[in-house]
Amino acid sequence: MSQEIQQFRATLPINEFKQEILKQIQENTFIIITGDTGSGKSTQLPQYLLDDEEFRLNICQKRKKFLEERVEEKEQPKVQGFLSKKLKPFVPEDRINSTDLKIVVTQPRRMAAISMAKRVAFERNQNLGIEVGYSIRFDNSTTNTTQLRYVTDGILVRECLQDKDLTGYDVVILDEAHERSLYTDVLFALVKTAAKRRKGSLKVIITSATLNINIFKNYFEGCPYVKVHGKSFPVEVKYAEHNITQQKRNHDAVNAAIRMHLHEGPGDILVFLPGSEDCEVCRKFCYERLAEVLNSGVEVPSVLLYTLYGSQTSEDQSQVFQRADEHTRKIIFCTNIAETSLTIDNIGFVVDTGYVKQKVYNPRTGMDSLIIQPISKTQAIQRTGRAGRTQAGKCYRLFSKQFYESLSEHTTAEIMRVNLASVMLLLKSMGIDDVVRFEFMEQPTQEAILQSLRQLYLIQAIDEDGQITPMGYEMSRYPLEPSYAKALITSKMMECSNEMSAIVAILSTESIWQRITRVDVDGYQKLQEIQSQHADPAGDHLSLLKIFSEWKQATFNEQFAKDTLLNLRSLKQADNIRQQLQQLVEGTSKKKCSQFYDQDYLYKLFRKQKDSKKWNINESIKLALCSGFYFNTARKMHNGEDTYLMVYPEGTVVDTDPQSVYTVIQQYPETVIFTELGGTSQVRGVMKLISEINIEWVKPYFSNMVKVDLFKLARIEFQQRGRDAVQERRQKKIQEQEKQKDLEQK
Ligand code: ADP
Repeated sequence: MSQEIQQFRATLPINEFKQEILKQIQENTFIIITGDTGSGKSTQLPQYLLDDEEFRLNICQKRKKFLEERVEEKEQPKVQGFLSKKLKPFVPEDRINSTDLKIVVTQPRRMAAISMAKRVAFERNQNLGIEVGYSIRFDNSTTNTTQLRYVTDGILVRECLQDKDLTGYDVVILDEAHERSLYTDVLFALVKTAAKRRKGSLKVIITSATLNINIFKNYFEGCPYVKVHGKSFPVEVKYAEHNITQQKRNHDAVNAAIRMHLHEGPGDILVFLPGSEDCEVCRKFCYERLAEVLNSGVEVPSVLLYTLYGSQTSEDQSQVFQRADEHTRKIIFCTNIAETSLTIDNIGFVVDTGYVKQKVYNPRTGMDSLIIQPISKTQAIQRTGRAGRTQAGKCYRLFSKQFYESLSEHTTAEIMRVNLASVMLLLKSMGIDDVVRFEFMEQPTQEAILQSLRQLYLIQAIDEDGQITPMGYEMSRYPLEPSYAKALITSKMMECSNEMSAIVAILSTESIWQRITRVDVDGYQKLQEIQSQHADPAGDHLSLLKIFSEWKQATFNEQFAKDTLLNLRSLKQADNIRQQLQQLVEGTSKKKCSQFYDQDYLYKLFRKQKDSKKWNINESIKLALCSGFYFNTARKMHNGEDTYLMVYPEGTVVDTDPQSVYTVIQQYPETVIFTELGGTSQVRGVMKLISEINIEWVKPYFSNMVKVDLFKLARIEFQQRGRDAVQERRQKKIQEQEKQKDLEQK
């Protein structure tokens, strides 16, 4: 480690708390650490543990004892016969005597996991993957020797499927807990149970920027709590007189940043915007505005413009961290990723639009959509705080004081606002059947749980009693939304899995088209022309497959991608994911599935088509899509060309995405299914990724959609619940009477 890095690490606020933190971790199973963003929680804390010899030896000894007990249990199973094999505890033999410390740090965001791993490897002067690495969906840089893994929270939930007690780790750090992302909330429960079973051989650290500490302390059994104080400087907050409209938001944000650049002293500028598209639009607009200012004869000091958002590549993102020379200012247009996940040094000024793009469950359609919403007060405070880390700063809020006062205190946990189907399926596949009473930190609404179970039932992942089916187990092997997993498994039966793997892979990456915004009028027009040349009236899924196949046929040619305005990086990534999905599909046994598909209407239809020699692969792809998404069937309304009515829930109106091939070719089929829902308002959804289908294919399923017994699915037995409640009330009454008697006697 270079001296410079050593000195830098010593200056971080967390350094002063190192001994106290290490002591608390030695003595406790759970510990909560809070501290300002940038104080060193994500990058330093795991290194303190890695480098503490005493801690390592101690925890390795505890792990050895625990695993040896496990071996005994394994040799004498409590249950005899067939079940004994299934219930045998998992013991990784190589971990019993290993003296390697294994730490996993979870991040809600992919980009943060990569960035942290790279940063820590750099600080330790190591290549990525040797001692430190990251693992995110479809991208893994870790090896057997990796001791410190930065992973997305979803990855650790999936690892719990294989190893419920997380015996592969000695320390779990749940970072960015304040974000309350869906999978971090699930992990709170899974890791808490695992740590209890591990009898002190697994340490759990919860770290966060700002935290509603009481909920966390209660949940983690009153565990100790260390607050890392950092040095911070005052930030002057200014409000706009009026709230800005959505149309003017980007315009005003850019103007505010330019005013600051022209009139303020040193310090970089961070501009918080709702989404990635806004970031790109603003960067371009800012260039143009600065050119205008310059042309009008005003002197413009040297400036560099950047964007920062979740779906960027790590190369693009790493440029933002590089220091500009002292006479150049950086203006960074960012989403809420720069609120707490990533820290950029030297920020002196913040412009806050007060909005964020969030995934929200749309109960009308049963799907999530990304919606632009006001931030919470906590988020506004976090954003302001970015300006005061290294110097006194200024924050300009593009909203009024009254608007600020009307904001909710904290951000609502994701588990309270998104579709829970994939979480429910994962819990079921871990053997957690009673999902309604699963011990979440904050209980999702019963309605949300019921709707997600309904979706799982409709795609045959669970049966009418809420039990996971063999098909459900199969789906849980795939790191995909259950409906996509179903479509992929069906595609294997329908002999089109190569094509479906490619489609799902394309949909798992950033758009394969180049990012050209409407601001670039010529570029946008050219993109639309090319898209319409490649549009396949069969739908968006097959159009994407077509252009992807053309690129592959052009031997992955770079020039072809350039000429057709394709994003080469996304294409390559999609091809890599396609190969990984194909490997997964190969692991799905056709023989095992055939028991299920023998009864399946869509599969019978496929067989019939095939036998009659009218077989056509595009039709099979659509049938496979229907098997995962038939509940998203919509029919054209006759009062508006691109407006559709969903079959269920009845009366739900949805619009066609302007980017869909159907909008491009201006032909709107009678019946379609869609696999994603967009739209920035909660009132009406926008169908994204649409394919034309034949209504007859899905008709037999409609009766299923309407008459699902949700309470049976959720295993809620009214009589039983009623009886329990009466018993509980009686017990309480007796206790109260006894208390009263005691008091009277005294
Ligand atoms: P926290 O988790 O408390 O928000 P971090 O451990 O992420 O803090 O960051 C500590 C410090 O390390 C930051 O203030 C920043 O100076 C530096 N740092 C973190 N990540 C990077 C990176 N990718 N490139 C450069 N510096 C970084």
